[in-house]
Amino acid sequence: MNYTANQISKITGAKIIGNKEAIIKDFAFDTRHIYSAKNTAFIALKTTNNNGENYIPEAIEKGIKIIVAEKKTTDTPNITWIITNDSLAFLQNLAQFHAENKKIKTIGITGSNGKTIVKEWLYQCLNEKYKIVKSPKSFNSQLGLPLSLLKINDEHEIGLFEVGISKPQEMEIQQRTFSPEIGVLTHIGTAHLINFESTEQLIREKIKLFAHSQTIIFNGDQPLVLDIIQKTYPDKQLISYGLLHHNDIHLKTPLKELNLYAEVSCYGDILRFPVHQKNEATLTNALCVISVLKKLNFGNDEIVEKINVLKAIEMRLESVNGIRDNLIINDSYILDLDSLKIAYQFINEYNKPCKSLVITDFAEQNNESGLYQEVAALTNEQNFDKVFLIGTEIKKYKPLFKAKTFTFNDIDELIKNQILNKISNELILLKGARKFEIEKLKNHLELQKHDTVLEINLNKILHNINVHREFLEPKTKVMAMVKAYSYGLGGYEIAEFLQHHHIDYLGVAVADEGIDLRKNGISVPIIVMNPEQHSYNAVIDYNLEPNIYSFRVLDLFVEQLRASGYNGKYPIHIKIETGMHRLGFKENDIDELITKLNTLNVKVGSIFSHLSSADIPEEKGYTEYQLKVFRKISDKIIDGISYQPIRHILNSAGITNYPKHQYDMVRIGIGMIGISSNESITPLLQPAVSFKTVISQISEIKKGESIGYGRRHIAENNMRVATIPVGYADGIPRSIGMGIGYVGVGENLCPILGSVCMDMMMIDLKNISAQEGDNVIIFDKNPSLEDFANYCKTIPYEVLTSISRRVKRVYVKD
Ligand SMILES: *Cc1c(COP(=O)(O)O)cnc(C)c1O
Repeated sequence: MNYTANQISKITGAKIIGNKEAIIKDFAFDTRHIYSAKNTAFIALKTTNNNGENYIPEAIEKGIKIIVAEKKTTDTPNITWIITNDSLAFLQNLAQFHAENKKIKTIGITGSNGKTIVKEWLYQCLNEKYKIVKSPKSFNSQLGLPLSLLKINDEHEIGLFEVGISKPQEMEIQQRTFSPEIGVLTHIGTAHLINFESTEQLIREKIKLFAHSQTIIFNGDQPLVLDIIQKTYPDKQLISYGLLHHNDIHLKTPLKELNLYAEVSCYGDILRFPVHQKNEATLTNALCVISVLKKLNFGNDEIVEKINVLKAIEMRLESVNGIRDNLIINDSYILDLDSLKIAYQFINEYNKPCKSLVITDFAEQNNESGLYQEVAALTNEQNFDKVFLIGTEIKKYKPLFKAKTFTFNDIDELIKNQILNKISNELILLKGARKFEIEKLKNHLELQKHDTVLEINLNKILHNINVHREFLEPKTKVMAMVKAYSYGLGGYEIAEFLQHHHIDYLGVAVADEGIDLRKNGISVPIIVMNPEQHSYNAVIDYNLEPNIYSFRVLDLFVEQLRASGYNGKYPIHIKIETGMHRLGFKENDIDELITKLNTLNVKVGSIFSHLSSADIPEEKGYTEYQLKVFRKISDKIIDGISYQPIRHILNSAGITNYPKHQYDMVRIGIGMIGISSNESITPLLQPAVSFKTVISQISEIKKGESIGYGRRHIAENNMRVATIPVGYADGIPRSIGMGIGYVGVGENLCPILGSVCMDMMMIDLKNISAQEGDNVIIFDKNPSLEDFANYCKTIPYEVLTSISRRVKRVYVKD
């Protein structure tokens, strides 16, 4: 895209204030993700929860010179304003004009599942033969689609775009923006189904995308899909694919009998492929790709060759603690310009003072069309301190990089170099094409080498929070409970992520936890739930907000405030006892409390209480009693002081079971991790934590031989036993030995044999074909965290907080 403000005005009818010749090459809509300000226009969008106009000053601070908004909001000089009455429609209109005027073949992909994988696979198959433009990641929404379309330039020959909807009526707008020549419909499932009256309505809505398409390629396994498409579009070229034989392109071998090869019938021709994964979704997606290639006139041999080399797409960014206080961000699955931009957006989320980059040759491209020039320009805008260029190709462009730049032929050469030892307290981004094995560098740089890891998926935490937010009014604040090292998941990493995603409050148990967060740059308000008397000065020094639950605590805290010379009213939070019988003021304390609050140097930030049994349906009566007491006492306090503090009482279970009592804020804890006591909520959540290790050794044990300490397991038959490097010192209770607990190997559950040792345990491999070095799941999906907690006869909270610090925490974003 490359338009002047004036051209944009002509296309969209927007009004320009400022430089009509200003050039716009890109749009940014999230100030946190501005990775390049040059020729980028910030577009202020309104969503249900947020108004982009509030972020205009921040955008300007980041160097943005062009703003698209519904009104001019500041008088900052030298800014060009593009004024429109609906920012999203503006973007859609511009994208529609842009796409229509570029003569490329367009493929539009919609469906419930598989859009991204089909798009990425098609890209892998087509990119040697054609110049391709595609949606980055899964940019397929009302906003993502126009932003993707605006990436089309004159060189491109084929455009692959994902189109998603979540509600009725949305596809009409999407179709007006983008009308693909070839339409692709992937599998229809249950995603967003609750927003539609029926599956039939969902299908009818989705296929509106194809209103003006010439060809529709669709998964014909579901009779309803087949029927609706045939009846709606009888005059179009229809190509169906699927596992069933009535499809034009189908799997010949039944799924159950698949072994090493799959045979696919393609209009009567038989194509043979080796199969790597026998699951239905993967095979169906592969059939979809074959159908599109066939439509684009690829020969059968060519198709086989392409399908054979499809790579699993994994887009994920891992962060781990490095040696010398470095933070290692590893994103080494794909290396292309899009993924580089995404990585540059992500690293803005971390607040390390200094950054370095390790980047390799881009795998499949050479420097046609100035690829490395663009890489250098983008990189220069990120203010890296040091840049390491790895590979014979990228090396040549060293003079283009402004940072201190070093070049190496391969990763080993860099690892051997002393320069790495000079990096400390930095963020190090590793961005490598797969063949460079940048993993080796990651292993070299990371702090903990223990094979037993706790992997925390931050996107899933965000997803789970959003599931809970569905129960809340948009204005209700959310406090995330990050006490006890974020329920065992990590120190500041989760808090930092949540802060970035605008969490309103954080809750910790003791002052030390809050201090740790402050030292790591966490600036959102933090409530200390259990401020101990020796910590009040630290509470004040680090701007933490104490929970005040008794007169003793109130008096001591106020005394400390005086001693520290604090003037002003210090924010405190009043805890009321409503039935938990743990901490809190009782009803007969309230008159005296009001008198004190009105005279002391404090300001009540909130009034709160805690439910003892929100997760237990049988205790509904008791919970309602607690809620009633809370209402009464908190009303009384508010009456007695001259202002209105916020109120909160719901924990995770409370949010889903008693949303009417959300007041002004809720406190989410275990729900973030994907656990709910409410069976109708559980399927909506995503388990955000997995605990895993690898097999150290496999032994053949003969009948009658014993395993482990105390010879507590005697082999009843010859058996295969695996030893895994995780024991009670890692947080596995010794009580789940002796066949009580299980771990997952592949799809199977294997019992723990004999006694759990301090650092290891032995498991029964039965007849599973596992090898040394293979992964073992302690909990993830199977067994789940709940299953594991059941083996331990405890609850997920205790399992998580018992996992010891020596277990490496890995944070993943995908
Ligand atoms: C831990 C805690 C929560 C969160 O509870 P979950 O059951 O994990 O949602 C809420 N409020 C208080 C006071 C807590 O201590």
